[in-house]
Amino acid sequence: MPIRKTYIVEHLDPELGPWSELEYIAIARETGRAGGTFVLSSMPPSLVEKLPSKLTSEPAFRAETKGVEELYPEEERKRVCLLDPRAEKDISPDDKANFDVFLFGGILGDDPPRDRTGELRVKGFEGRRLGPVQMTTDTAVRVTRMVIDEQFTLNMVPYIDHPDLKINEHESTEMPFRYVKGDDGNPVMPEGMLDLIKKDADKSIDDLI
Ligand code: SAH
Repeated sequence: MPIRKTYIVEHLDPELGPWSELEYIAIARETGRAGGTFVLSSMPPSLVEKLPSKLTSEPAFRAETKGVEELYPEEERKRVCLLDPRAEKDISPDDKANFDVFLFGGILGDDPPRDRTGELRVKGFEGRRLGPVQMTTDTAVRVTRMVIDEQFTLNMVPYIDHPDLKINEHESTEMPFRYVKGDDGNPVMPEGMLDLIKKDADKSIDDLI
């Protein structure tokens, strides 16, 4: 039987915005389908109570109020891999044997990146990079799963960088991230994300007029 891996997102924002919520639901579904576990750690109790049922009903999902430092004390920390855009080494299929747990920063991507993953790096986890381009958190988990569970090398993964998303007939918006390219040729995104991006684009247009 394959060793089941744990994917942890350490939630680093005080809120849980709609964007993160859609990402976390997608991570929970896909990780569950692959037989893994998805833990959202460092969750303020007040946020745990408000988690949507779409997330809490996923069998692979668990919310933790504890942070990763408490969940993995010093002696267990070397089995945890921090996915870190500034790590010296890229992840490889061989890392399957080195780590049981894969840790991600639950922070929105920002452009240019502010290196908030650094908050986890200083805690002494070993780091691996997923190539040079910033990904969304759900993409980072997806690519890690492809490398660890499906044994893809990073250069075998089909990517789309900085896609232009069509908002309406006249406008598109460029996403400053790397995505996995789906079978249909489009970037793989959480269910509902495209609508949310379109709504947000409308909002900013409304703000302008
Ligand atoms: N702007 C944030 C990164 C947000 S991306 C920063 O500057 O730190 C959210 C998470 O996805 C990161 O914390 C990291 O765990 C993972 N991630 C995204 N792109 C990555 C990459 N190219 N290599 C390794 N991890 C990555």
